Amino acid sequence: MSCIFCKIATQEIPAKVVYEDEKVIAFHDINPQAPYHILVIPKKHLSTLLELTEEDKELIGHIYLVINQIAKDLGFAERGYRVVVNCKEEAGQTVFHLHFHVLAGRGMGWPPG
Ligand code: AMP
Ligand code: ZN
Repeated sequence: MSCIFCKIATQEIPAKVVYEDEKVIAFHDINPQAPYHILVIPKKHLSTLLELTEEDKELIGHIYLVINQIAKDLGFAERGYRVVVNCKEEAGQTVFHLHFHVLAGRGMGWPPG
């Protein structure tokens, strides 16, 4: 398995982990685009959002609850945050293991670039 995020999930590659349970791991992005930039990933390998199936519904709901918990724990829940998923190359996806970007700590522009 050559997937870098699978290796982070199994701790073969180090990361600054902020949350972990049996289904999900969350860690600081190595190239942060905001004062807070956390990546939340399922431990199960899914390349893109398009690979989601009916059996992943609970997992995705769980990920959003984990994001809320991280926002409270790290202290940016009150000010707010942005969740971004890039799906395939044209959207800017570079790592093909599903991940949710959680960005916070500065004003965000709209529309995104
Ligand atoms: P995306 O462009 O949506 O695929 O996002 C991939 C993200 O993964 C980028 O923000 C990268 O900075 C981040 N990234 C790549 N490798 C690592 C790593 N080893 N640890 C933490 N973040 C990483
Ligand atoms: Zn993977």
